[in-house]
Amino acid sequence: MSKTIRNVQPVTANLGKEGSGEFVPARYAVRIGEVDVAMISDGILPLPTSTMSTNVSEADRNEWFDGRFLQRDMFDWALNIALVRSGERLILIDSGVGDGFEYFSRAGRSVMRLESAGIDLAAITDIVITHMHMDHVGGLNVEGVKEKLRPDVRIHVSSAEVKFWKNPDFSRTVMPEAVPPALRKAAARFVELYSESIVQFDRTVEVAPGVSARVTGGHTPGHCVVDIASNGEKLTFVGDAIFEVGFDNPEWQNGFEHEPEVAAAVRIGLLNDAAETGSLLAATHVAFPSIGHIAKAGKGFRFVPVQWDY
Ligand SMILES: [Zn+2]
Repeated sequence: MSKTIRNVQPVTANLGKEGSGEFVPARYAVRIGEVDVAMISDGILPLPTSTMSTNVSEADRNEWFDGRFLQRDMFDWALNIALVRSGERLILIDSGVGDGFEYFSRAGRSVMRLESAGIDLAAITDIVITHMHMDHVGGLNVEGVKEKLRPDVRIHVSSAEVKFWKNPDFSRTVMPEAVPPALRKAAARFVELYSESIVQFDRTVEVAPGVSARVTGGHTPGHCVVDIASNGEKLTFVGDAIFEVGFDNPEWQNGFEHEPEVAAAVRIGLLNDAAETGSLLAATHVAFPSIGHIAKAGKGFRFVPVQWDY
């Protein structure tokens, strides 16, 4: 039986100002040892719920969304990026969707939110791109952004990822029709704009003391996660390895995964690691600020969000 459907109007529409004075919680910071980590919301991507569970029945999918008091057809994916300060280095992880997609007009807020927090794009020394999907590179493709970045900024992308997008394989994905061409275009534009700044790495790279990226594959063949570890504390930014449905159902495949079986294995590995070590996770598409611990729960896991500290 269908439960009450919530109002789908953006909850931020009716209070406060638009733009940099907006009345929304869009930035949240924690300290991991001696490293500062801030999550920043790029906004929301509305997508069909069917993209979140391509290998399960509609009834099972409906049951999960009903259980969360959510609509059955569309789901608002969170879209988060991160900013990390380690010593003298300031590292941006991903860049949001940018402004090239009218359908995604509720996202693309990253640059505005960085600037309204007093972060000058020219202060960023390094950028890590978890993978080259448009909701991760699109912010860098926005007109004028490249000019605001310092000329010697290093953009870390795995070599497998750069190679993959030369001739990307969408045969295992299940996406709305308009998405694959948009993804190809955004990835190509990113490489064209930043070929001089991209620094490729093979399996892992230490970006700064306590901050390193490691390739997992799965979501895309060169997808990487970023480990932030300092003074015995750890947080892993898992990019698109874990989605909102993936704690209860880590084996549910996602329509945006280019290697769905690998992606599920990567997800389970990351969740097991976090559950066993007690380290924190954060993810691109888990509800803002997306930082939490992982507990084992039955056949799956339970996400335990951090208590907000003001
Ligand atoms: Zn994504």
